[in-house]
Amino acid sequence: METASLQSDSRALQILQRVFGHDSFRMRQEEVIADLLAGRDALVLMPTGGGKSLCYQVPAMLRAGVGVVVSPLIALMKDQVDALHQFGVRAAYLNSTVDAAGARAVRAAVAAEELDLLYMAPERLLQERTLDWLDGQKVALFAIDEAHCVSRWGHDFREEYLQLSVLHQRYPRVPRIALTATADRATCREIVAQLQLDGAGRYIHSSDRPNIRYAITDADNGRERLWNFLAAEHPADSGIVYCLSRSKVEETAAWLRDRGRDALPYHAGMSDDARRRHQEHFLREDGVVIVATIAFGMGIDKPDVRFVAHLSLPKSIEAYYQETGRAGRDGLPANAWMSYGLRDIIIFRQWLRESAADDAHKRTEHQKLEAMIGLCEMVTCRRRAIREYFGEDAGADCGNCDNCFDPPQTWDGGEAAQKAMSCVYRTGERFGVNHLVNILVGKEDQRVHNWKHEQLRVFGIGKEHSVAQWRSIFRQLVAGGFLSVDAERYNALRLTEQARPILRGARPLRLRKIKAPMAAVKKQKSTLSPQPLPAEDEKLWQALRAKRTALARAQNVPPYVVFHDSTLREIARHKPQSEEEMLRIAGVGEKKLEKYGAEFLAAVREAG
Ligand code: ADP
Ligand code: ZN
Repeated sequence: METASLQSDSRALQILQRVFGHDSFRMRQEEVIADLLAGRDALVLMPTGGGKSLCYQVPAMLRAGVGVVVSPLIALMKDQVDALHQFGVRAAYLNSTVDAAGARAVRAAVAAEELDLLYMAPERLLQERTLDWLDGQKVALFAIDEAHCVSRWGHDFREEYLQLSVLHQRYPRVPRIALTATADRATCREIVAQLQLDGAGRYIHSSDRPNIRYAITDADNGRERLWNFLAAEHPADSGIVYCLSRSKVEETAAWLRDRGRDALPYHAGMSDDARRRHQEHFLREDGVVIVATIAFGMGIDKPDVRFVAHLSLPKSIEAYYQETGRAGRDGLPANAWMSYGLRDIIIFRQWLRESAADDAHKRTEHQKLEAMIGLCEMVTCRRRAIREYFGEDAGADCGNCDNCFDPPQTWDGGEAAQKAMSCVYRTGERFGVNHLVNILVGKEDQRVHNWKHEQLRVFGIGKEHSVAQWRSIFRQLVAGGFLSVDAERYNALRLTEQARPILRGARPLRLRKIKAPMAAVKKQKSTLSPQPLPAEDEKLWQALRAKRTALARAQNVPPYVVFHDSTLREIARHKPQSEEEMLRIAGVGEKKLEKYGAEFLAAVREAG
């Protein structure tokens, strides 16, 4: 027993090194692989980018027969299989995009035991004729990807996933592995129950994404802030910018294009064809920015998305985590940046009020929204808050979020709050934030005159703060529940019960200072960032990227399928001079050396 497992380990390690070009296993990949090799089931919860795929790819290559991978994401299968071919792994897929002749060829390859991995959509696998056919084949394992799709309560529920328990009944001897990146404890229990995985080894990792840096800033001048952020941190990187509305998406994409970025819109109001073209461009080219509504992202498996920016508030921490999670799947540093303001709070609270959902549902949604607003307003470590929200033991401050880097200054906002609240009160709780701010700073406009508000005692009593500061103060008062917004009356602000002790001066109130747009993007050095490339290597890095793009285009595959950014960085840093040195670079296996070694060695020589 002992020796058998040792032996299998060394074979697995050999595949890891020679085929995939990695030095050693990560997290608990090794144990998961050993389980499957020994014929046991496994349940794996690992964050995105954690390395789930190798957990089933390696044992599928080592066990006799084909490894069947079930995935709902048909659109990804071609790229996944292309990527495997680049490593020299024998893989194919069967889904609705494969014609009859193609499917016949795949089945023949399985029968001839010429395939290690076969990707299939669940509806395809569950067809009786597919199962009948599979009965006669040798199956190495079943990998059920995106296993959280069995959960009726989750947002990715798939009816067919419930029927996957048939695999256990029909093929009791074939080990199964269920994998997911998004499952809380309840969802894990559901996966075990639905897929009958009671005896499975459990590999539950924290869902934390340490390489993602979180930052949330004031919406005041949000677009300029976005530009500063892009200019400072991502002048040439790919990323996603999320906006709430289609018009904002179009507008923002056009604005970025005017400023010279390769930016494209994506939303549900566009034709299927335009959406496909834009997504394709994003996947195939370097440095593209997609500006999108939340319609974009499901099943996008691009590993080198370097930033996700939100120009508006997500509706819950779950949504925020899922959307920002699309950044940095390759494990390299990535940014999750967001600007948010009072408008977002108003819009969402109004949606909730007007939603047709039942009361219990509305209450939950409301709590989720309030938790998200709380995350925006907090002055302590954001990652800790997120992890605690998901029920994890969060430990120490992360050192890789805006609040850790540059702890927000707070100030005694009692007096300012009183001024703001008196202004609300004196004007009859009938006006929105713009008008109230004008009164406080003493700005006379038509509206002020119409209502004779220049004659009020509160007119001009707030000149010590700027318009932007007052807007931030009002936002914090609304977020904190001291003021409410009356959507039926032009978003008029009203005092709530909680405002009383503040008005009376019976309760202190700390507010956070707003940061200047530039301060928010001040380059921060993270302990987790890779060492920046020295300036003289920058040119080589660009040359390597250009080479990669050309090689990818010639084969009609995304650039990362040729080499990941991390591999190119290593090449730029170490400047390998021979094939042996090249093989030592992480991400270069034997097949890739054979395919691309000469080209990249030449690029290094030319730059030297
Ligand atoms: P997931 O499916 O969990 O999101 P992937 O399986 O796509 O993640 O792996 C993410 C990245 O990590 C890939 O680039 C993969 O090559 C890399 N990776 C996986 N395992 C290792 C390892 N043991 N050492 C180095 N890199 C690894
Ligand atoms: Zn932190």
